[in-house]
Amino acid sequence: TKFTDLKLSPDVLKAVADAGYETPTPIQAGAIPHALDGKDVLGIAQTGTGKTASFTLPMVTMLAKGRARARMPRSLVLCPTRELAAQVAENFDTYAKYTKLTKALLIGGVSFGEQDKLIDRGVDVLIATPGRLLDHFERGKLLLTGVQIMVVDEADRMLDMGFIPDIERIFQLTPFTRQTMFYSATMAPEIERITNTFLHSPARIEV
Ligand code: AMP
Repeated sequence: TKFTDLKLSPDVLKAVADAGYETPTPIQAGAIPHALDGKDVLGIAQTGTGKTASFTLPMVTMLAKGRARARMPRSLVLCPTRELAAQVAENFDTYAKYTKLTKALLIGGVSFGEQDKLIDRGVDVLIATPGRLLDHFERGKLLLTGVQIMVVDEADRMLDMGFIPDIERIFQLTPFTRQTMFYSATMAPEIERITNTFLHSPARIEV
C-alpha cells in the first residue's frame, strides 16, 4: 500500500510527504480505509507503530468539509496522560497544517481561562485527558452532542490509571452515531467489555 492509494485528502497527503513518510505502517494501512468508510476501528497496537497518524490522518480528511461551532467540538481524542495528549496535539498540527482545522488541548496544570476561550470560539478537535475534559463539561462550558469522531488512545493505560469510568461517562455524553477509533496495546477483559458496549461492529486491526 502507498499513501496515495488511501483516500486521504490532498492536504493531508502533502503534509505526509513533508513529514518524509514513504509508506504507511501496517496499522495505518489497516485502519485508514475503514476509518474513511465511516467504520469504527479497534486498533491493537503499541506506541511506535504509527498509530497516532492512523487516526489523525483520516480524522483531518473527514473533518475538512465542515466547520467548528462555538462550544461544540466535532471530534475528541482522549489520552491517558498530559504528555501523550501534548504529543497527539503536535501530530495534529503537523498533519493539519494545510487545513484550517482548529484544536484545543485540555490537560491539567493549565489554567481554565485559555482553554475556555478556545472552546468558546469553537474547535474542530479537542485533545484531552478524561478528567480534565469532564471538569470542563461539569463547569457547563462544553457540549459533547456535536462529536462525530471519538478516539480513545492507549486504553490499557487508561485502565491502569483508573480512567475507565470516566471513559464510559464520556461515551455516554457523545451521540450514539459517533464514529469511534479505539486503541489499546492489549485487550484486558475490562477493555473488551468497553469495546463491546460502545463500538459498533468495529474493524479490528492487530499489528
Ligand atoms: P506513534 O506510534 O504514533 O507514536 O508514531 C511513532 C513515530 O513514527 C512517530 O515519530 C511518527 O512521526 C513516525 N511515523 C508515523 N507514521 C510513519 C510512516 N508511515 N513512515 C515513517 N514514520 C512514521
